[in-house]
Amino acid sequence: MPQFDMILLTPAQVQGAEVLEHTAGSPAREGGGDETYRCGSCKTKLLVNVAHHDAHGVVVKCGKCGRFNTEPHHHHH
Ligand SMILES: [Zn+2]
Repeated sequence: MPQFDMILLTPAQVQGAEVLEHTAGSPAREGGGDETYRCGSCKTKLLVNVAHHDAHGVVVKCGKCGRFNTEPHHHHH
């Protein structure tokens, strides 16, 4: 069950991007894989047990701290 901290983006960086709105208390997406992604600022779990392709390129606005996050482009070995 790999777990990753997401990369923080500024509001200017997410202009024009499709933003997934997270609500505090429940993941923005859940299920379909084994990767969990946490907010890069407050460590809230934003994507839980998702497949890698469900996290790739996604921008999530954290419902707890309001920061924008994107996946960290980690590499599989
Ligand atoms: Zn947060």
